[in-house]
Amino acid sequence: MIWNRNKECMSRDEMSALQGKRLHKVVSYVYHNVPFYRDKMQQLGMIPDDIQTIEDITKLPFTTKKDLRDNYPFGLQAAPQSEIVRIHASSGTTGNATIVGYTRKDIAIWSECMSRCLTSYGVTRDDIFSVSYGYGLFTGGLGAHYGVENMGATVVPASTGNTEKHAKLIRDLGITGIACTPSYALYLAETIDRMGIKKEDLKLRVGAFGAEPWTENMRKEIEDRLGLKGYNLYGLSEVMGPCVSYECKCQNGSHICEDHFYPEIINPVTLEPLPKGQSGELVFTTLTKEGMPVLRYRTRDLCSLMEGECECGRTSVRMSSIKGRSDDMLIIRGINVFPSQVESVVLSMEEFAPRYMLIVDRVNNLDTLTVQVEIRQEYFEKALDTIGEIDALEKKLAHRLQNVLSISAKVQLKEPNTIERSQGKSARVIDKRVIK
Ligand code: ADP
Ligand code: ZN
Repeated sequence: MIWNRNKECMSRDEMSALQGKRLHKVVSYVYHNVPFYRDKMQQLGMIPDDIQTIEDITKLPFTTKKDLRDNYPFGLQAAPQSEIVRIHASSGTTGNATIVGYTRKDIAIWSECMSRCLTSYGVTRDDIFSVSYGYGLFTGGLGAHYGVENMGATVVPASTGNTEKHAKLIRDLGITGIACTPSYALYLAETIDRMGIKKEDLKLRVGAFGAEPWTENMRKEIEDRLGLKGYNLYGLSEVMGPCVSYECKCQNGSHICEDHFYPEIINPVTLEPLPKGQSGELVFTTLTKEGMPVLRYRTRDLCSLMEGECECGRTSVRMSSIKGRSDDMLIIRGINVFPSQVESVVLSMEEFAPRYMLIVDRVNNLDTLTVQVEIRQEYFEKALDTIGEIDALEKKLAHRLQNVLSISAKVQLKEPNTIERSQGKSARVIDKRVIK
């Protein structure tokens, strides 16, 4: 099913024409309403009429998280305060919160895009959908909530926390869908196991997972344990919230709501735009936002874009899964390391639970990487009976990590249930080098 065939299946020519028209409009709008953008354009000797087609976008300056912080709290807001009906703040995974104001029209577009996502996962009005992203300043909870209501399914605003009560509700109400972080989905699966609830007792069939990077192995693990099909949901508060892109049944990349959010990929070092297909930093321009539009916002998320009609019938550009954030990237002994690389190794080995932590330190001027991983309960019990088993497992993991990361890592195996669980976004790296 497709929520908005008109927009999601538009011909490429029509889409480019629409994007060009909307870009011109948003550029004039911010030029006249946000001194920050006007100053930046004036420094480049530009006026809004220099932007006529979507290709002209490369003439515009970039916007960064730092710009948002420097203009805290309302400096980049374009609409008058009387038009703002809601304020969110980014979760501040990587620093101070940034404030985002939405007009009534922004909220309507957000709900529309979120309805596109849910419909593409196969959600219908007959579904009962639990939203277990955090409600509050974080965009996940309310963003998904309005989308479920807008498309006419039933929303259960479970939020995070109180997971046992939530698990009971999932069973008793026959909840069929859930939106949450992949980490929370695993936490829920563990809680359900602990409570003695079987996945066969549940009606869960669809998961809308996002807000943090996750791997294919993580997907398999969640699907298997909760008995549902897991789909990717991507978004960020600076651009809107969850709904910027979503997987379809083909699960070959996530379709971007391109009529509202225009994507580019750039080289994060030279800032040069890269051709479609190449990996780099994802950049978004909001084409219709009123509250706080952003021009060429650098997401720091690393991925690639795919063109071409998808088998599902949608024509919108797709983005690959996020490999990491350019600011999540660790440089250890000069080598780039992403936590997701460690995750893919850990989850490919059945001896381990999907719980890990990277600890980076500097000893005698040399970077060290320690990877802590939890052993699965079943395996742990068996291994304790066999001398040398744990040592052998440690060596096996260290060897595989070395192959994938190209640097050696010290492995520390942990007993089951000893690595801290997260209900929202997981923190998986402790970099002790920064605080020294
Ligand atoms: P912040 O984390 O900076 O406080 P947000 O709370 O808006 O800001 O989170 C947005 C970020 O979360 C994205 O830029 C991206 O890094 C990450 N994210 C969101 N959805 C996904 C997803 N499906 N896959 C990978 N990363 C995601
Ligand atoms: Zn598709």
